[in-house]
Amino acid sequence: MSKQAEGKDKPGLIDEVKNIFAAHMEQHGLRKTPERFAILEEIYRRNDHFDAETLYNEMLRQQYRVSRATVYNTLELLLTCDLVSRHQFGKNQAQYEKSYGYKQHDHIICVDCKKVVEFCDPRIQQIQSMMGELLNFRITHHSLQMYGICGTCQKARELAAEKATKT
Ligand SMILES: [Zn+2]
Ligand SMILES: [Zn+2]
Repeated sequence: MSKQAEGKDKPGLIDEVKNIFAAHMEQHGLRKTPERFAILEEIYRRNDHFDAETLYNEMLRQQYRVSRATVYNTLELLLTCDLVSRHQFGKNQAQYEKSYGYKQHDHIICVDCKKVVEFCDPRIQQIQSMMGELLNFRITHHSLQMYGICGTCQKARELAAEKATKT
């Protein structure tokens, strides 16, 4: 992944992803509707992890006339051309995020407040290539989630425990 492509709001990135998406739809004989591009743009404006329903509501809030089905279909399409990645954090709804030109990373999730924190450690990439070589696998991707209690929630738990012992 190039350094240039990293970071947010880089001019040109949105055009690049639109071109990739357009080429993908042409290749598969799909209609290049303005709604699909609007959904793609909204995804690339965001810097968070979101579920399909949140994305749908945001499109409605911005007065786009999209159906829930279009949002779900478009997400599926974007997954197949690697412009979006999907994660399963615990038992929650699947979460999505943009993936093109975005740094490789993994996630830590707070089990109390469900906050998601991203981290990046090149050693994980090293394990991936080492294991691929060792076991003769062409590794295509990995999924790594860590779960714990964030700092804020640790304090909240301590306070609750204190209260419980006082009463
Ligand atoms: Zn928390
Ligand atoms: Zn992420």
